[in-house]
Amino acid sequence: MLGFNKIYGHEAIKNLFIKSIELERLAQAYLLTGGAGCGKSLLAEVFAAAALCEGRGGGVKPCGSCAACRAMESGSCADLFFVTPADGRKTIGVGDIREQVGDRLYEPPYRFARKIFIFPDGDALTPQAQNALLKMLEEPPDYAVFIITARSAERFLPTVRSRAALCRLLPLHEDLVREYLKKAGLSPDLAAFAGGSIGAALSLRDNPEFEKTLEFCRKIKASQNSASALDALSLAKEAENFKAAPSELLDALYNMYGADLRAFAAKNEKRPAREAGRRLEEILRAKAALSRNAGFAMTMDALMLGLAGL
Ligand SMILES: [Zn+2]
Repeated sequence: MLGFNKIYGHEAIKNLFIKSIELERLAQAYLLTGGAGCGKSLLAEVFAAAALCEGRGGGVKPCGSCAACRAMESGSCADLFFVTPADGRKTIGVGDIREQVGDRLYEPPYRFARKIFIFPDGDALTPQAQNALLKMLEEPPDYAVFIITARSAERFLPTVRSRAALCRLLPLHEDLVREYLKKAGLSPDLAAFAGGSIGAALSLRDNPEFEKTLEFCRKIKASQNSASALDALSLAKEAENFKAAPSELLDALYNMYGADLRAFAAKNEKRPAREAGRRLEEILRAKAALSRNAGFAMTMDALMLGLAGL
């Protein structure tokens, strides 16, 4: 069953949604932003379910048992619409807005008290489509609610942004991701590499290549304090295996040392925290070098020597 309690983290946004539903004071449009897998789609759907829920008596919404909740659960809610690119297209154009929103918007809700339009991939809206949408956001019927999810608000016209309540989903604390993975029977270690995103942790779990990356990261870490220059250069050679997707390796390393840094800082262990911070800088330097098209082998040599403090 859909429920706010199924969503990890994002407490402030959840509370805002719950309160505004209790008080019947919904904005006409919401813009939920956050990285891939951060939970914004799930949050949008739970919010829509709560906004449509007919449960009475001040109980928790969505209640899970009223007609609206049952319709949501079975994916057949007559007053909920997902606005997406037309078949085979990558962007949402003006025509899509006209067809998927325009005609429906001005007819009263079919069955429930509100009519909700969710945009699962708001990044796909072209500027022209945003302008078409803007016209609708300027004078929407009272029953209409727009929930747009996107990676960032930057791609939106300022006029659209200003008409929406902005809700920024921040990365979750690593412990929360760890807790989720544990409860789901998955390896909690993935949390260190997921950058605060449960979705990212799940996709790492499904990626067989990642296990190899992870193993290599652990090997680097295990040898870093006692490595000789020869060891470091042999690790650099081994890094050639990751040449096809260097950013995956560097991101994994960065997340691993980032987790170390937070753990040391939390325990106020200053020296190891400083060491982890220094290693993060080495990794950022390698990333920057590769983005400037520096040679892969040379960059890895410098990185492995740097990580070992040589
Ligand atoms: Zn309900």
